[in-house]
This record gives sequence, structure tokens and C-alpha cells, in this order.
Amino acid sequence: MNSIKEIDKEYVAGTYNRFPIEIVKGKGSLVYDEEGKEYIDMGSGIGVTSFGIADDKWVEAVKSQLGMVQHMSNLYYTSPCASLAKLLCEKTGMKKVFFSNSGAEANECAIKVARKYAAEKKGEDCYTIVSLRNSFHGRTLTTLAATGQEHYHELFNPLTPGFCHIDAGDDIFELEALAAHKKIAAVMIECVQGEGGVIPLKESFIKKLESYCKKNDIILIVDEVQTGNGRCGKMYAYMNFGIEPDIITTAKGIGGGLPLGAAILSEKVQNVLGFGDHGSTYGGNPIACAGGISVVERINDELLCEVREKSEFIFNSFKDAEGVESVSGLGLMIGIKTKKPAIDIVKKCIERGVLCLTAKDKVRLLPALNIPMDVLKKAIETIKETCKEV
Ligand SMILES: *Cc1c(COP(=O)(O)O)cnc(C)c1O
Repeated sequence: MNSIKEIDKEYVAGTYNRFPIEIVKGKGSLVYDEEGKEYIDMGSGIGVTSFGIADDKWVEAVKSQLGMVQHMSNLYYTSPCASLAKLLCEKTGMKKVFFSNSGAEANECAIKVARKYAAEKKGEDCYTIVSLRNSFHGRTLTTLAATGQEHYHELFNPLTPGFCHIDAGDDIFELEALAAHKKIAAVMIECVQGEGGVIPLKESFIKKLESYCKKNDIILIVDEVQTGNGRCGKMYAYMNFGIEPDIITTAKGIGGGLPLGAAILSEKVQNVLGFGDHGSTYGGNPIACAGGISVVERINDELLCEVREKSEFIFNSFKDAEGVESVSGLGLMIGIKTKKPAIDIVKKCIERGVLCLTAKDKVRLLPALNIPMDVLKKAIETIKETCKEV
């Protein structure tokens, strides 16, 4: 046995249907396979490599921390963890951060905070977490329960109890009806449903949810794992909608390529978790946080303006394009509904040197926030051509 593909197929658990290329290296928005063929990366590792592959500033930040201390237990203080928490609070107006290693874990933390807050304030029978149908919140048994898509649940039941789903639409009647017979601890939303097909929620719906939560002292959790950290043209996507969540959860793009998640807590819930209530061996790891600082520091007004301009360019490029039915999304999180099956277009684009993602029946684009305009233009041309032909 010699090729990496064969070894992987034999020894790595078969949970991923990989495309037939091995990525060896990259720089910025360009990556190279085992034969040296170049690709434009329009997925950035599912929105992870915010400033591209092997970005100089990110590499420098990680390397310099690597030479100091790569890990300490959370029994001691380390600088990157504290500095990143401060930075995140300054950028959001929130008060405290719990660090973990993934999006699912960030959501687990938010759910624990909401449950404890509600139990202490409204009684132990107040535990129901309401999320949206077609949502995605992670793969652990609790975040699967929050995920409002049945097909992820099949054959893994029973999941963690105490979760209900409502439709995302225009009004919140369904939530009000639920509240008549269940005590609701929290409502959890993605402002743009990523895995669900890159579908932004309506602003009026988000605002109604927020005001209902405020009025009834229900914790509002925004899952910014995919939408956050500049992806949607603001530091966090909820900032496009003028709301104030109680908890922000994030991961993916915050680490720039190392495992890092965060539950960012507002004043109301900042002290809900006390000593021993929660923890993570790796959470707040110095290297992951050093990478995180270098990412978050660079998400400034200038970069966000660039993100919004590139977004507009992509929307305009696909609007009325041949073979394209519609374009959805926000910022550099974009879904293209194509006439031909999305997966066929993605496969053809790989042959032509462009790596894209899918989300349900759409082609999904999550390029690096700093993708150069000429590289972006080239990728869009290839995708457009492919939509037309396939
Ligand atoms: C990817 C994702 C998650 C899960 O993140 P992991 O790091 O894979 O655990 C949770 N919520 C949303 C919205 C996501 O896109």
C-alpha cells in the first residue's frame, strides 16, 4: 500500500466522503495537491482559515508562542488566553469568555449556562431549549438534540432531552404556543443557517425573538460558529440585525486553523458558571489562543468593509447568471442554488482548479476574508462557466 488515499481509506474511520485529491500545501487562497496542481480555495476549510493557508502573520503568532509554552493546565494563568478573552469582550461589549476547542463544545457550554441560569432563577423544571428547524449546532448528543434536522438524529436516539424546534419565519406564534406548556430556558439561533443551506433569518423574526426573550427572561444564544469573526461583514453576524444576545458561541474562523471555540457571556450570565461547573483540558490553549489573537486583531472596519464589497461583487456576479436559480447569504458566506445538482458543479470545479463546498442543494462559498480580488474574480469566472455547462 502506498498512496495516502489508500492508507486513509483503510485506516481512517469512514465518516467523510472525501474528494479524490490530497492537499499538500498552500499559501493564502491557493492550495496545491500531491501532483503540484494549483487550486483556488473557496471554502477555507469550512470557514476556518480566515486569512488563508499559512498566512504570514498567523504563522508568526503561532510559532512564537510555540517556542514559549505549548500547553499548561487551566490551573495556571497564561497570557494568550487572557488577552484573547479581553479582546473578544472589547469587540462585543460582553463580559466573560469560556474557551473550548470546537463549535459543538462552545454550544454545550452555552446550554449549560442557560440551564443553570434558568434553574436558579425559575426553578429546575425550567430547562427547555428552543432552536430552529433546519438549524445545525454540532455533532455531540446534546448539540445534535439542538440541531433541527431529523436526518442527523437517526439511529442515535435517545438524544439529550429538553429540546424543541420551531420554524424560522415571520412570526413567533409557535414559540408563544410552546411557552404555554413548557418553561423555556433559552432560544438558540444561527442568524444565517449555514449547513441548512446558507439561509439568512428575517430581521423582523430575529427582532421578535429577541424582544420575547428579553421580556420573559429567556437566554438568547446566537450560534456564530460559522457566521462569526468577520464572515458576515460584521465582527459577529447578529450585529447586522441590531440585537443584543445573552451568549455568543463561536469557533471555526476564530482560530484561523487551530481548534478553538468560545462561549462569550453577557453581563447577565457572566457569573453563572462557578468553580468546577465546567472545564476543558485544552480550552484556552496558548497556541490556539495566540493564533486567535492574530485573527481577531485583524478584523477591523477596513477588513469588514472589504468583506462587504467582495460579497456584493459575488452576489452581482451570480445574479441572473446562466444555470443559477438564486443566490443567498450574507458577507462572504454565500449559497448558490444551481439548476444542475450542486455536487456535480463542485466536482467539475475541482477538475478546473477551484475548491467549493456544498450546503444541502446549494454550492456554498466561504473564501478567506482577505482573498485577493483577482483570485476571487478568477474563481467566480470558473464557477459561473461551470454552472452554465455541467
Ligand atoms: C460547524 C458548526 C458547528 C459545529 O462546530 P464543530 O467545531 O464542528 O463542533 C456548530 N454550529 C454551527 C452553526 C456550525 O456551522
